[in-house]
Amino acid sequence: MAARVIKALCIGCGVCTRMCPLGAISVQVKTASVDNALCDECEECIFACPNGAITV
Ligand code: SF4
Ligand code: SF4
Repeated sequence: MAARVIKALCIGCGVCTRMCPLGAISVQVKTASVDNALCDECEECIFACPNGAITV
């Protein structure tokens, strides 16, 4: 498993991309996405997202 972005809640602010220590999140077309191969479920992005748009 990896972190998952709830697209309906994501506003593409990019905060999560800066918080991920593994560079596993990118923002394309105003929605974040997680590279499942890189994510180790550290949950940093979950706490960082202002909209509660990331879950595991
Ligand atoms: S921090 Fe949250 S709202 Fe901002 S791009 Fe990441 S998932 Fe989307
Ligand atoms: S859970 Fe950790 S490793 Fe996975 S995307 Fe979020 S910040 Fe990156």
